[in-house]
Amino acid sequence: MDFFFCLPIIVGCPTKVKPDGDQEARICPRCHNAAMFSAKSRTWFEFCFVPLIPMNSKHVWMCGICQLQVNMQPGQWEPQLAQPGYQHPQLQGQYGQYGVSQNAGYGYQPSYTQNQK
Ligand SMILES: [Zn+2]
Repeated sequence: MDFFFCLPIIVGCPTKVKPDGDQEARICPRCHNAAMFSAKSRTWFEFCFVPLIPMNSKHVWMCGICQLQVNMQPGQWEPQLAQPGYQHPQLQGQYGQYGVSQNAGYGYQPSYTQNQK
């Protein structure tokens, strides 16, 4: 029965956060990116990386950039809404932080506009 001694027994109570409620982008008070969204934070009793028992859950504001979490309370503080039409930074590709000018010569024209006459 040596087989069983090879299995690591790992027990933990990780907290899993998933988006919940309206997903309008809001301004994070810490990193100032419009990457805050409402989410539900739930703590699980986990056995060998398998979530077994939900322990407790709460609604939070969660920043997708700096991972800031703020408890959500009705009638209390909530993050400022981002500008309409703002695109989520994580959906804009892998360009990283704004203001990083490593690619300074960026003004290229898409090739399809050159043959349009
Ligand atoms: Zn943030």
